Amino acid sequence: MNKDIIANLKKMIDVNTPIIYIHDYDFTRVDFLLQETLGYNTEILEWSPALGYQRIFCDEDGYIQRNKYSSGKNADLSDVLQNWYNEEFVKGAKYLVLRDIQDGIETPKVKSLLQMIAQRKLYDLDFELTIIINSSINLVPKEIEKYVSFLEIPYPDEVEIKKIINDHVETNGYKDFDTTAIDTLMPSLKGLTLFEIDRMLDMAMSSGGTLTKDDKEMILRHKKQMVKKSGVLELVDSPEDINSIGGLETLKKYLETKSKVIKRIGEAMKAKVAVPKGVFIVGMPGCGKSLCAKATAALFEAPLLKLDMGSLMGKYQGESEKNLRQAIKIAEAAAPCILWIDEIEKAFTGVGGSEILTRMFGYFLSWLQEKTSSVYVIATANNAANLPPELKRKGRFDEIFCVKLPEDEERKQIFEVHLKKRKKTINISSDLINATKGFNGADIESVINEAVEDCFINEKNLTEGILLKFAKNTVSISKSCKKQIDDMDIIFKESNFKNAS
Ligand code: ATP
Repeated sequence: MNKDIIANLKKMIDVNTPIIYIHDYDFTRVDFLLQETLGYNTEILEWSPALGYQRIFCDEDGYIQRNKYSSGKNADLSDVLQNWYNEEFVKGAKYLVLRDIQDGIETPKVKSLLQMIAQRKLYDLDFELTIIINSSINLVPKEIEKYVSFLEIPYPDEVEIKKIINDHVETNGYKDFDTTAIDTLMPSLKGLTLFEIDRMLDMAMSSGGTLTKDDKEMILRHKKQMVKKSGVLELVDSPEDINSIGGLETLKKYLETKSKVIKRIGEAMKAKVAVPKGVFIVGMPGCGKSLCAKATAALFEAPLLKLDMGSLMGKYQGESEKNLRQAIKIAEAAAPCILWIDEIEKAFTGVGGSEILTRMFGYFLSWLQEKTSSVYVIATANNAANLPPELKRKGRFDEIFCVKLPEDEERKQIFEVHLKKRKKTINISSDLINATKGFNGADIESVINEAVEDCFINEKNLTEGILLKFAKNTVSISKSCKKQIDDMDIIFKESNFKNAS
């Protein structure tokens, strides 16, 4: 168990915190944490709506056990608290763990009893009870917030993950286990809970009999689902080659330079090189911002975690704040990684109008500013006009780039990239380049797709003439979204953003 968490919990108990809230669904891990912090001989009682009272203890072999504790068996949560408040049930026990009480915690009687117990703990020296709420859901009524300290349990670090793997190998008795597999699997296991890692290892072993480097693919597949289930992030595993981006030369060179630091982050830090924070890419739709995020993942050889601000903000606001913290926590645990914040403007436009939004923004900014971990942030936005100026100031992101509609040479390169992907070689003449003025990358890709489909159906060879015909029939972005594109052009001219081209 991580020494810092134990120290944090000890400190909370030492300073007489009445209620400690541990938001974690991995109850076994929390049991170990409690035993290690409070001591193996300490009486810990647990109450849950499903099982009533249980006594938690550690057996001779070091395994956590529980046995039924008969008193108060059929009591509901308010009876339980009432008994403790009246000291009818304390009998020397000092720690009460309340598990999964989210369905009962919001009733007026429970809230009031929790307040009374907390008050008593603060002012009555003889009343020693500490309440530890452990729940898979983070729900603290406003009335008791001031008596509660939250214990953050970080995701397992490398040392803990190594220990879990070794325990697995030992328990299953694999003598010919290749220990170098641990290093190969480590990045895929980071950012998962102990419980999830345990399941991954069980699955890897049951499919192949032992744990090998080849299990990386399988683990990544499951990790993708688990990260998605967390509801806030998506693990994007479609890395793009940097050469699949046409144009944007300045931005590509910039990312290549940063990759040299990130890939050797350990050495770089020793040499006092500043850890790259991230980059903010603002630009016209369909011009390759997402492509750049995916290419960065391939360049950095790091996982890409996508935080979709649009859907994060779709939920009610209290949830959004919690989700943002959770996303950052997962990213920190998965470092080195790339945290791609898509549509950042959807969250932070209009900050100041809402207390929660302002708090979220403040939290995000200070995390970004003080960040020492190798989580590289790529924020992308279509419209930066109404974003708070603090976000655009230097020191937050290392650099802000603007992506404009591709120039002649860039459009030629985009054609070449997409034709090459489809294994077609065609000379791009100035006619086609002129006909696609005002097109973005997505428009060009769609011209090629339509032309290729047409040639397939009519059994023809693709020619520049066919591309030209489809280009002329395409309504480009600069026509369909003229006002938006013109406004963006003005913003870019007035800003000090670096041109990505
Ligand atoms: P949005 O703001 O709408 O999300 P975006 O800037 O993130 O757009 P992408 O998703 O990266 O745009 O690109 C859309 C499509 O256009 C992709 O399929 C991509 O292949 C193609 N594309 C855009 N720009 C380029 C480019 N510079 N080089 C090659 N392909 C491009």
